[in-house]
Amino acid sequence: MGSRNSQTCQIHNKIFTSLINNFTNTDLLILSDFSGGSIRDPKFLAQDLICKLKLEPLVTADNETHDYNLHFNFGIQNNSKQLKTINIIIDLEEQHLNLKPKTIYTSPSPTHQYCESKTNVLPNELGYQFEIKIDPESCLYISNTLWNPIDAINKTFESLCQQEPLHVIDYGTSCNGNKLSAYKTFQDRDLNKPLILITSGFHPTEGDTTATEAIAKWLLTTGKDNTKNVDFVIIPVVNPDGFTSGYNGCNTSGINLFWDFQNYNLKSCPEAYYLWEFIKQFPPNIYLDFHAYSIQGKQKKIGPYFKPEIFYFGKLTKEYASKMLKSLESLPGNKSQKLYAPSTLAYKITKTFNTITFAKYHLHQDLGIHGLQQLAINVVQNIVHTLNHCDLHDQILRPYGSRHKPYKDILSQMLYTCRYSLPKQLKKQFK
Ligand SMILES: [Zn+2]
Repeated sequence: MGSRNSQTCQIHNKIFTSLINNFTNTDLLILSDFSGGSIRDPKFLAQDLICKLKLEPLVTADNETHDYNLHFNFGIQNNSKQLKTINIIIDLEEQHLNLKPKTIYTSPSPTHQYCESKTNVLPNELGYQFEIKIDPESCLYISNTLWNPIDAINKTFESLCQQEPLHVIDYGTSCNGNKLSAYKTFQDRDLNKPLILITSGFHPTEGDTTATEAIAKWLLTTGKDNTKNVDFVIIPVVNPDGFTSGYNGCNTSGINLFWDFQNYNLKSCPEAYYLWEFIKQFPPNIYLDFHAYSIQGKQKKIGPYFKPEIFYFGKLTKEYASKMLKSLESLPGNKSQKLYAPSTLAYKITKTFNTITFAKYHLHQDLGIHGLQQLAINVVQNIVHTLNHCDLHDQILRPYGSRHKPYKDILSQMLYTCRYSLPKQLKKQFK
């Protein structure tokens, strides 16, 4: 493990120097001052390094609260001339004690995607522990998730844009001034073709950008034929500040824009505001949003979230949405889940444009990198295959397309919403 790249380490060595029994105080440095670094209170105790997870705000939206405090990402620099073996203990909050990762991922550089390490994760009374070996005068970056740094993602897409038909559009800037970039497979939109919008990177630590990278590569090689009949837009990183600031789920204003898509809030949520403006320019027929489970274990199943048919306008769109869902459910091991979450982009995009959505589409890191890539491609293949039998000309709502909202649909949606929300609100009232 590790390599002799102490030069890279020197850049990031500001954070923490500590004494370990037989080591000198300059032997080991904890590194967290890099893009994506995330760790709290690291302490050396004999041969152990004890750390806590950095905490970010819980998100409450649509009567549900979500906790994204799951991951760490830090480096250790070994300044000595000996190989160092360190037992790392992750000290968890009580509510997270059941979340023990199966795999630890490492990289000699914080700007490359991390790879599976062979270290075993064992239970510990504080949480869990694992052993790491660091070569002399080397750095090793360590995480409990398949970390894909934004530098690596940007580099991949920049190089893919050298090939036709992929083109970049910068559609806005984030809170911290990072570029918001989309990649499209067309010069000018052909309205005779359906448009599929694919996103990832709402929740930076999930490693789901592996999916969008794989889809983009596939569309430029063996899957290129698909771009003849379908237009694609891929946004690999919806929340770039989350990547650079080491957040699990939020942007730098503390907004988890998957659950709470504040498209009206330019000041605190420009990532959502500009994405919404971009979508108005290119209203998609289909919207897919990849996420990935990491340390949640076997109880979490791969597969799409879908919305009740009632939320689509027009008989045909309802029918196509259900056909596509069936084709996704036919993928081995996939299990769909119904989600009613009106504050998400998935709901807003259907309400405004009548877009068919599968958001989130949950992958699972237990599939391994190759498994994640292959499933993501299969998902798109199944959607495109179903699309070949659909006429979507009259799908998009006015003023962006030609469809009127039928009153019958509006009414049944209102009834559904009341039936769903009323008991939750009453429960809250009498709590
Ligand atoms: Zn997610």
